Amino acid sequence: MLIERIWAANELRNYQYLIAAESSGEALAIDPLDAAAVLARAKERGWTITQILNTHEHLDHTAGNAGVVAATGARVMAHAAGAARIGGVDRALQGGDIIQVGRDLSFRCLDTPGHTMAHICLYAEGDAPLLFSGDTLFNAGVGNCRGGGDPVSLYQTCSGILARLPPATRVHPGHDYLRRNLEFTLDLEPGNAAARSLHQRTAGTAPEAMPVLTLAEELAINTFFRLGQAELVENLRRKQPALGSNDAKSVFLALRELRNSW
Ligand SMILES: [Zn+2]
Ligand SMILES: [Zn+2]
Repeated sequence: MLIERIWAANELRNYQYLIAAESSGEALAIDPLDAAAVLARAKERGWTITQILNTHEHLDHTAGNAGVVAATGARVMAHAAGAARIGGVDRALQGGDIIQVGRDLSFRCLDTPGHTMAHICLYAEGDAPLLFSGDTLFNAGVGNCRGGGDPVSLYQTCSGILARLPPATRVHPGHDYLRRNLEFTLDLEPGNAAARSLHQRTAGTAPEAMPVLTLAEELAINTFFRLGQAELVENLRRKQPALGSNDAKSVFLALRELRNSW
């Protein structure tokens, strides 16, 4: 499998992706924002974009659809519940659907509500599992719920679906928020050595060169997967005195609330 990560160089720090089948050069574009940049990268690699996946309906993940379709005739795919808002969707997706790229590659659609209620993550299993997680899971963080989402659904998605994927799964998020999110982790867990070392290691790293992390690494640095950590809960309670019990769901919701204004 060939993967290109394309930095959009915008204020929202979007990542767009191309995934191509080695045998045929057929490519899937994920969340195209800057159509010209996505088309240029495909051309450079000699790939033909035949499909587009929007992980969800927000404009920073769909704005490049029209330009890519005009140049390539690619088929647009998105969650069935977001298709009407996106417009021009050729294939409405549900959880469990399979997306085939060329003859070699196949991905499973995971229905992952929370950031919005029409969000798909794309998962490839096998020896080197990988996940395109859109705005559901970021490096060291998760998406907010202010653009049509729901924090309880996000908790269920993260704990019930994403945390259970194989630890070796490589995570490809929709934005580069790694360093800012690590600072959030360190504010709550100053003793988190993995987060501290990654924060030091990525100082001065360009967004194009940020490391791709595995789910195992996420479990060590992402507060939203570390809901039982005593240091985290203690510091969270100081900042969010309204936190009731220490159960995982309450901690997740208080973290999401705190992160909104952090
Ligand atoms: Zn979004
Ligand atoms: Zn986004």
